[in-house]
Amino acid sequence: MPGRLPVVFVSHGSPEALLEAAGAVACWRGLGRRLPEPRAILAVSAHWRARVPTASLAGVPATLHDFAGFAPALHRLHYPAPGAPALAERAVALLSAAGLAAELHPDRGLDHGAWAPLLAMYPQARVPLAQLSLGREGPAAHLAVGRALAPLREEGVLILASGAITHNFAWLDFGAADRPPLPRARAFADWVAARLAARDLDALLDYRAAGDGAEAHPSEEHLLPLFVALGAAGDAISERHTPDYAYGGLAMDAYVWREAGA
Ligand code: ZN
Repeated sequence: MPGRLPVVFVSHGSPEALLEAAGAVACWRGLGRRLPEPRAILAVSAHWRARVPTASLAGVPATLHDFAGFAPALHRLHYPAPGAPALAERAVALLSAAGLAAELHPDRGLDHGAWAPLLAMYPQARVPLAQLSLGREGPAAHLAVGRALAPLREEGVLILASGAITHNFAWLDFGAADRPPLPRARAFADWVAARLAARDLDALLDYRAAGDGAEAHPSEEHLLPLFVALGAAGDAISERHTPDYAYGGLAMDAYVWREAGA
């Protein structure tokens, strides 16, 4: 047993990140090499939002190509990790014990928010994996979900939250490569980093009131996984990774929380 496992948040970016050898992919590979090998993974992605947090019992989760208009090569990528139905049941039991509504889904597969980073982190796809959806509520509810799931860290489970630190398509420039980060995107990403470093949960929960917060997330599903990670992380120390921005406006920050001295 690897002890208390870290918690990870990644900005998954566009599906094409996987084909472009982007800095984010190198970052994810590095995380996979450095993190302890988990017994199982619980993935929480922005691309599955249900009425209440819902865990998939899929025994062999299908790789969902839940996007359109990207390179055909992406549709040939699969992530053949075994499912983890016992972990799905354990996650729902923990949520229920904390007084949170939660459900099981019989067979939902892995969306690209879950499998794209995992393909880089754990390319051998050996570690059993269950996906948990977001619920309909906001940041505070997702912080509570993370707190309820924190005991999984003691059970050899890596909680991988996958979303985006900024996610406003109007900020993206699909033109020339190597454009500098959009100042507003950088300002919000740096604000999140500073609040995380200060463990200022109140400010983070109220991020829409902060500078460009509401514009960085016209809808908030891509930031909600960060709150699940924060809840699961508890007092752990956050470590920021800053791969290059995608399309100028998509901050690709990743965070790892681990206990002091770990
Ligand atoms: Zn996404």
